[in-house]
Amino acid sequence: MSFSSNSPRFDLLSWPKASEAASKEGSTLVWPFGAFEQHGPHLPLITDTFFAEKVLAEVLERISSKYPIWMIPPQSIGFSPEHKSFKGTISLSADVMIEMVGQVGEQIAEMGFRRLIFFNAHGGQIGLLQAIARELRVKCPSMAVLPCFLWSGVNALKDLIPDREVEEGLHAALAETSLMLHLNPELVGPERAVEGIAGQLSDGKDLNIPNGWSLEGAAPCAWLTEDLSRSGVIGDSRDSSSELGRNLEKALVEHWTELFSSLMESNWPSIH
Ligand SMILES: [Zn+2]
Repeated sequence: MSFSSNSPRFDLLSWPKASEAASKEGSTLVWPFGAFEQHGPHLPLITDTFFAEKVLAEVLERISSKYPIWMIPPQSIGFSPEHKSFKGTISLSADVMIEMVGQVGEQIAEMGFRRLIFFNAHGGQIGLLQAIARELRVKCPSMAVLPCFLWSGVNALKDLIPDREVEEGLHAALAETSLMLHLNPELVGPERAVEGIAGQLSDGKDLNIPNGWSLEGAAPCAWLTEDLSRSGVIGDSRDSSSELGRNLEKALVEHWTELFSSLMESNWPSIH
């Protein structure tokens, strides 16, 4: 394995350089989070980790010469209890995640970093990482902690993906399949499942979601994948294409480049 010396990877630095990096004004470390979980019959277990690392590397390539920002290697095993009944999934418990992320975060703060970004690509651990970020902020008040989710807040997605799929395409569906078709087509199998859409399983059975409740959003059900899907796909993967994947990649990279740049231009958290 060989690395370029301009790569903004914190683990490529010697300890004196690491110490110098951490003590820079506004020093920021990004920790990508993926998952080790089933992604339908056609996508690999590494899907979320791969997306987090790939999009982040592109964002940092654009901004890391301007700002004191580095990344550490991705956390590739996450919190995925909802997918456990599908073989291949490996998940840590919430307790272990809280302890592990908390311990690493405290050491990053002790080194002198002023900000830690969680760059997460797995929807099932958004809430957990937000809670960990709050606790870490209380323990380490000098360091801001920003728990981001790859697909959240990216307005351009609404122009690329049909509304229904934005709402119901929760897993291994149109967006993820297209992005992988663009980034690494040899990892994508031929199946294109559609499940969970309009409340039906692929075998025709009703999901029976009670009135007024939803999968995510205002009144969520904390679903398990087997409640919604036989294949592991939640949503409609049939229209996936590498062209859509290319547009999604562009939208994601542009969005996060903008947000990371505005953070780096700011003096957040300004109370210190
Ligand atoms: Zn995923």
